[in-house]
Amino acid sequence: MKQTLDVVVVGAGPAGLAAATAVSRLGLSTLLIDEQPAPGGQIYRGVEAVRQRRPADLDVIGRDYARGAQLAARLRASRAAYLAGAAVWRLDADEETATVSYVLEGRSDTMAARHLVVATGAMERPVPVPGWTLPGVMTAGAAQIALKSAGLVPNGRVVLAGAGPLLYLAAVQLLAAGAEVAAVLETTGRADHVRAAAALPRALPGFDYLMKGLSLRRRIRRAGVALRSAVRELAVLGDERAAGIRFTVDGKTEEIAADLVLLHDGVVPNAQATRQLGCRHLWHAQQRCWQPEVDGWGRSSLPPVSVVGDGAGILGAAAAELTGALAALDIGHRLGRLSLSERDRRALGLRARLARHRAFRGFLDRLHPPSGDILAVSDDGTVVCRCEEVTAGEIRHCVGLGAMGPNQLKAFTRAGMGPCQGRLCGLTVAEIVAAARDRPVEEIGYWRVRPPIKPVTIGELAAIEPER
Ligand SMILES: Cc1cc2nc3c(=O)[nH]c(=O)nc-3n(C[C@H](O)[C@H](O)[C@H](O)COP(=O)(O)OP(=O)(O)OC[C@H]3O[C@@H](n4cnc5c(N)ncnc54)[C@H](O)[C@@H]3O)c2cc1C
Repeated sequence: MKQTLDVVVVGAGPAGLAAATAVSRLGLSTLLIDEQPAPGGQIYRGVEAVRQRRPADLDVIGRDYARGAQLAARLRASRAAYLAGAAVWRLDADEETATVSYVLEGRSDTMAARHLVVATGAMERPVPVPGWTLPGVMTAGAAQIALKSAGLVPNGRVVLAGAGPLLYLAAVQLLAAGAEVAAVLETTGRADHVRAAAALPRALPGFDYLMKGLSLRRRIRRAGVALRSAVRELAVLGDERAAGIRFTVDGKTEEIAADLVLLHDGVVPNAQATRQLGCRHLWHAQQRCWQPEVDGWGRSSLPPVSVVGDGAGILGAAAAELTGALAALDIGHRLGRLSLSERDRRALGLRARLARHRAFRGFLDRLHPPSGDILAVSDDGTVVCRCEEVTAGEIRHCVGLGAMGPNQLKAFTRAGMGPCQGRLCGLTVAEIVAAARDRPVEEIGYWRVRPPIKPVTIGELAAIEPER
């Protein structure tokens, strides 16, 4: 262990960038750690490189990207230390301090802090439909990452399928980059629009988001791309690799040929770090995911740990920045840099802006619920845990044999015990167990997540310098 800093922030997306910059401006010694090679997180991935090397790419990725460049520049101008390319594999906290272990350049190291900010963002919800493990199938977010970080544009016919704003955004970005988008198949349908309409009055302060969503759909249609709604029973076709996609609409089955199928069913908090730390989590019934329990400052159930950004609950990039800034004010107060009244005074404007994002989120949650059809994984042969190749049928079979929850299933099937430690299949496994036992998911619970939350080699552990 090297030294104890005031604050360590894990995750250099908008939330972590805002938090690290703000606490360091309060005069607190600060370290920001991220496994990516550059700051930006998911939304502003590689933003410094895009701005420097390919300014024209902003037309493809979207002008919102400029905001990321500002956040990155502010971090660079602050006194916060920043470790890029460092994957955090273990976090611990007692009543007063937290420690963070990470791997950087082939060696594991540990830092201690008086306060830890977890800003590890969101991940895409898995879409385990038949054929989703074939080559030629990716998530929409993965295609977006390839576009943002390497300027990669897919060849051949692309079909996007699932639900959520990222589905439209990825389609528009791919179209702008010159990809051949053959169709966008959304599970969202008329019933979702009716449900969402009830939340529209409260969402009106977020009117610009609404307009943005409508504009994305218009751009897809204007490009001559088929946009089909209320699709069900998605299945990727092909033997050796994806050759197309099958789906039903109004009970009729159709097929579309495709060279690349991009699946997406919304994003959920990446809760591996907070789970491994032992923070309390709550079930979000509408988004059908777990999120850490936090108060209005991002304080978790563990005293020296705050959680900010999408990792604390999906609200989007602009809100992530605000929750990072709010947590920084609170940490400044806790660590003696701001009086209570000063903390509260500075928070007023941030809270007002955050309320606008929260209001709009209620509308989005109703409009794009995860598809019940996909969550059910009714096809027994569909692989659920990709690391250990465990199918939905095997999980149901083991529940029949007496595996009552995800943790018992580990012993029965090894599901959740591969390199991703259940990060990708956790929610799906819990849904399947809940349905098989006819119990609510929140009663079924979740994996006990243990370190390492990121793969770490024996060599990296062996290279730890002994403490003197
Ligand atoms: C694939 C994907 C694509 C998205 N694209 C868009 C988009 O184009 N537009 C949009 O509005 N929203 C997008 N979103 C939603 C979006 O992520 C956010 O709303 C926003 O980026 C959240 O900011 P954040 O700071 O909370 O987290 P993020 O921006 O996700 O940043 C989290 C950071 O934590 C780091 N991290 C996580 N775990 C570890 C670890 N163990 N060790 C070290 N570092 C770690 C990650 O590398 C990442 O840089 C996307 C989400 C996903 C999952």
